[in-house]
Order: sequence, then structure tokens, then C-alpha cells
Amino acid sequence: MDRKEAVPVRYEAVIGLEVHAQMLTDTKIFCGCSTTFGSDPNTQTCPVCIGMPGVLPVLNSRALEFAVRTGLATNCSISSYSRFARKNYFYPDLPKGYQISQFEHPICEHGFIDIDVDGQSKRIGITRIHMEEDAGKNIHDGAGSYSLVDLNRTGVPLMEIVSEPDLRGPKEASEYMKKLRAILRYLGVCDGNMEQGSLRCDANVSVRPAGQKEFGTRAEIKNINSFRFVEKAIEYEIKRQIRIVSGGGKVIQETRLWDSGTGITESMRSKEEAHDYRYFPEPDLVPIIPEDSWIEGIRSSLPELPDQKISRFVSEMGLPKYDASLIAEERQLADWFEEAVRAGGQPKSVSNWIMGDLMRFLNEDNRSVSECPVKPGQLADMLKLVDMGTISGKIAKTVFEEMYRTGKAPDTIVKEKGLVQISDSSEIEKAIDDILSKSPNEVERFRGGDEKLLGFFVGQVMKTMKGKANPQLLNDILKKKLAAVD
Ligand code: ADP
Ligand code: MG
Ligand code: ZN
Repeated sequence: MDRKEAVPVRYEAVIGLEVHAQMLTDTKIFCGCSTTFGSDPNTQTCPVCIGMPGVLPVLNSRALEFAVRTGLATNCSISSYSRFARKNYFYPDLPKGYQISQFEHPICEHGFIDIDVDGQSKRIGITRIHMEEDAGKNIHDGAGSYSLVDLNRTGVPLMEIVSEPDLRGPKEASEYMKKLRAILRYLGVCDGNMEQGSLRCDANVSVRPAGQKEFGTRAEIKNINSFRFVEKAIEYEIKRQIRIVSGGGKVIQETRLWDSGTGITESMRSKEEAHDYRYFPEPDLVPIIPEDSWIEGIRSSLPELPDQKISRFVSEMGLPKYDASLIAEERQLADWFEEAVRAGGQPKSVSNWIMGDLMRFLNEDNRSVSECPVKPGQLADMLKLVDMGTISGKIAKTVFEEMYRTGKAPDTIVKEKGLVQISDSSEIEKAIDDILSKSPNEVERFRGGDEKLLGFFVGQVMKTMKGKANPQLLNDILKKKLAAVD
């Protein structure tokens, strides 16, 4: 029988991200006002950033340096000629009626960063990085009767980092964001805090039948303000677009808003309603023509970046890639790790403690690694006590926790708490004999073949010896005793 069935079309997502990163300068991009977050509204303003007539902007050289640092770290070329433009629109949080941004001549172009996709490295192109000023903040009264404007953020320097449409799914997009955030934090150019809005992202999303070369029509999703939501918003949007095109419809080009409360994206404005920004060159700022020597000076001051650290941890220290990636995510954590290794800790043991109890305690207390009460050298010292057999691996957990709570040195804790491992076989033997004589039934069952009971005996002996028995010795003696039929 000749049956024709429609083969279901498989769709592929295409994603490009526009990331806004607030630069960690002390002052704003075109005036000397402070950029400190959380001050009283409108206390960090001056005639320049509130757009008084006749004032003149002056570029903050630190902001320029930060943008160039970022460009170099993301393999961009630095433009030999770059300038600012006015992007015109009206909104109450934009006192000048235009935003000073870069349009035709961004400071950095044609870069890339590598991300990890299912264990494979994938290169994501960076179209451009440009500098611009942030807008203020409208604060709406809950009842809807009035709105207030806070201009403290007006003029805070931003970088906009635009990716090529090289990302193919929500996970790739979040991996890209994570990598970018790690690089920005390593460079010290942005704190990467998405909750406070110092790192924000708009996602451009389209779908196309798998195998098709042309891109589909894209929607731009705004308002993605947390790491978790990068994936969720894109995931939702891909499903929505696939539903439309597989039903024979057409995706319309528009800007959509992600609503984290409902978990959906909603139309904000269509292409027809899109702003015409009437970009034109900013006449009050001179073009930027950087000298090569200045750029090379910045290049030579770049720190070792996450990717370089990861491969060094793998090749020189023998760490698994997984461990290396986790530890290299934060520069301070990577430094902590290396200091512990320099102090004599075996790399994989140090990494195990970092990924285990150390991270757990820090997370529980909402502390960063720089606030960690345990010093790297102390962990190395503790690992030495384990290697020498002074304490068991099990006791080490107690010692580590005590180190974390009190900041005391491991040998002090071991002495004070009497935690030295007992490797005296006669003492262990006595404890074993005691338990075996108290548990005749279990002994009989064990000898009858129920070998799972070995754990029960170990546990009982450890309990009477307060966990201090040398586990290897305990196991050996116990097995011998149980094997011997009396
Ligand atoms: P605009 O300034 O209007 O947002 P751009 O051309 O600068 O437009 O593109 C912005 C982002 O959209 C870039 O990150 C780019 O990679 C991405 N992009 C462009 N076309 C598509 C598409 N068809 N699907 C998904 N993303 C796209
Ligand atoms: Mg855009
Ligand atoms: Zn100002």
C-alpha cells in the first residue's frame, strides 16, 4: 500500500545575544559623578548627566580602557578610528532626549569566545563591542498614580557586546553568558551582578527548518534579568515560534518582553512601531584614534583568562576538565586553589575539598571565597595530616568544618579535640572483640554468608572509638577475626 505521510519538520533555533555590561569605573562616562549603587535618588548627578543645555561631555579614559581590555580578551580587533553618535528617543529617564552611544564606528569588532557544548569547544563570534551611557530609572508608584525618576544611573558607562547569530539553543546561550561573565569578572571591568542589573541581556531568537540556510524572522526578547531566565525565556520563545511556523503561520519581527512571573514572552512593539533613532555623529566628543603602543600596553597587562587557566590546570596539574572549569570560573577561587597546591596540597585532593565542603559552606553562608575563614595553606596542612595517617579521611571532615567555623590551624584542632587517629592495633582489636562478643547473632549470620554485615561491625567499632580508628587497620583486623572460626 502506498501511504504518504507528512514527515514532521525538525526546527533549529538561531540565537544572537546583545549583552549590556555596566563598567566598574568609579565615575560616570562623561562626567565626574560617582557610580556607586544604591545611594539616595538623584544624589549622584550634575549638569552634564542630567542634560542641562550648554554642558559638554568628556570621555572617561578608564571606560575606554575597559572597553579595549574587553575587546582584546575576546579576540576583537581594536578600531583605529571610533566615535560616538547620538541615538535619539524620548523617555522620562533620558533627560537629554538622546543617548550617547556608538553606531557606525564601535571601538571593538570581529572577535570571538569559545564555549563548551557537550564536551566540545564551539566558537561564538562577537560582532562588536561599543561604549554607551546608561539611562536613569523610572520608579512607578504601586497604585499607578505617579512615577518618579532617579537619574543616579544616567551616564553610568556601559559596554554593549553583540554576538553573531551563532548560538543554537538555550543551553548554548547560557554557556555563552557564563563564559562572558567570567571573562568580564577576570578583567575587573564589570561585577557581573545580574540581580542589580550590572549585566543584562537581550536575546534575538528565530527558528528555521533544520538544514535550511537562511535565517528565519527573529524576535528580540528584552528584560532578561537573571541567569536562570536566559535559558527559560529563550526556551519559551523557541517553542512559541515553532508552534507558529509548524501551524503554517509567520513569525513577525518584533520586540517582546520576558515576564519572569508568568514565564512567557509578550509582544511589546512590532517592527513598524520600532523607533527611528535618527543616529548622527556626536559633535561634542572627538573621535578616538588609539595609539598602537597604548593598545599593546593594555594587551600585555591582561590577566590569565579562564580558558588558559583551565587548560593549564588540566595539562600541568592533571585535574579533570570538569574540576578545572568549575574552579576557573572565579579568579579568586582559582587563586585560592593554586595557593593550596603551592603549599603542598595534591591538586585533585584540593579540588575535591573545594568542590565539596568548601563550596557548600560558602554557599550556605552566602560568602565569597575571599571571605573564606580557611586559608589555602591550612587546607594543605590538613591534607598532610591525612597523608601521614595522623587523622583519617573521615575525621578530616570534622577538622575542616572546625577550621571553617573557627579559623584555627588543623593541628591545633586535632590536638584540642583529641582527634588523632588510633593506629594501635591492640586498641582496635580490643574494641572489635568487644563488639563481636556483644553481637553473636550478627557474627553467625555473617559467617553464614551475609557479608553485608561487615559495614555494621565497622560502624559499631567506629562508634565506640569515636571515629578515630585507622579505617584500613580496622577493616583488616575485623576481616581476620570474622574469618577465624573459634
Ligand atoms: P538590532 O540592532 O536591530 O537589534 P542587529 O543587526 O544589531 O540588530 O542584531 C542584533 C542581534 O541579533 C545580534 O546579536 C545578531 O546576532 C542577532 N540576529 C540577527 N539576525 C538574527 C536571526 N535571524 N535570528 C536570531 N538572531 C539574529
Ligand atoms: Mg537589538
Ligand atoms: Zn554627572
